[in-house]
Amino acid sequence: MDFRYDARTQELREKLSAFLDECVYPAEPVHAEQVAAAGDPWARPPVLAELKAEARRRGLWNLFLPDPRYGAGLTNLQYAPLAELTGRSPHLAPEAINCAAPDTGNMELLAEFGSEAQRERWLKPLLDGEIRSAFCMTEPEVASSDATNIATRIVRDGDSYVINGRKWWSSGAMDPRCEVFIVMGKTDPGADRHRHRHRHRHRQQSMILVPRDTPGVTVRRGMTVYGYTDAPYGGHAEIDFTDVRVPAENLVGAEGAGFAIAQARLGPGASTTACGWSAWPSGPWSCCAGGRWTGWRSAGRSPSRAWSGSGSPSPGSASSRPG
Ligand SMILES: Cc1cc2nc3c(=O)[nH]c(=O)nc-3n(C[C@H](O)[C@H](O)[C@H](O)COP(=O)(O)OP(=O)(O)OC[C@H]3O[C@@H](n4cnc5c(N)ncnc54)[C@H](O)[C@@H]3O)c2cc1C
Repeated sequence: MDFRYDARTQELREKLSAFLDECVYPAEPVHAEQVAAAGDPWARPPVLAELKAEARRRGLWNLFLPDPRYGAGLTNLQYAPLAELTGRSPHLAPEAINCAAPDTGNMELLAEFGSEAQRERWLKPLLDGEIRSAFCMTEPEVASSDATNIATRIVRDGDSYVINGRKWWSSGAMDPRCEVFIVMGKTDPGADRHRHRHRHRHRQQSMILVPRDTPGVTVRRGMTVYGYTDAPYGGHAEIDFTDVRVPAENLVGAEGAGFAIAQARLGPGASTTACGWSAWPSGPWSCCAGGRWTGWRSAGRSPSRAWSGSGSPSPGSASSRPG
């Protein structure tokens, strides 16, 4: 396969590299100062909004979205090298160009499977970078790596669905701008191909949109990964859904389509997120010759904030994500 960059990829790589050099890297110390000064660990500092406005002005916006009606219309082959570049500033660059997980997968999901009303209500503000979203699949009670185990119930009741269950590891949900949850649960727990020829086990699940402010939704806590909260980058929340009632039209796609939608979402989303992380050896970790972590940049680009001295990354600092 030919992996050389085509003309469009090359042009976007040059524009994105210039944006990183001229705007994003210089904004990193400003971001760190604003995070330190903010009283709320989850508040996103004002410099991020400035970066987003500048990225949009430069035509670097929603590059991840393959559907040209909503995004740049790039193929995975064209987008992957761009995602790799944003990985050099993983906590600022992806969000600055509105290409940050989990919103990327959630926007793709809404673009591909959402109704017109759902796209208007949720996809539009996500595409504009005004709100954020979370994907609530994993549960504490079941082995969630096999999503057929997901046990949250989504029960039809007249013109509504009623949701009961507990989720955890819902990335982004600690961000106060996270206004909508895409929740996966079972609408037909009895579907089983051994007993019913047309009701396969993978048709038990559905996806439904739950606005964060719906009564019965409780964001219980932010989880930690090796002791790190991932603040202020949205974190990973444990969330209770107790008798949460939403209109029936909040269902995404058809009843029973949840498993297929999850597969469609996780395929490209996971690959392009991985492309971003693949840049770590050339970005944040490139200065790990042993020493104290004082910032994101490689020693070459910003010596004052390189890994310098002895010790280990400090948990809870703006630059503490272990990878
Ligand atoms: C940083 C982070 C962010 C995340 N973000 C999200 C998010 O935004 N939304 C979301 O829904 N989830 C999210 N997750 C959760 C993640 O998708 C799950 O942790 C993952 O799918 C594994 O599920 P589990 O934790 O239930 O592990 P389990 O399924 O319990 O697996 C634990 C171990 O047991 C093994 N195992 C499981 N079943 C079997 C079996 N039958 N036989 C043999 N071995 C088995 C697995 O391979 C694994 O090694 C996130 C997780 C992390 C760490």
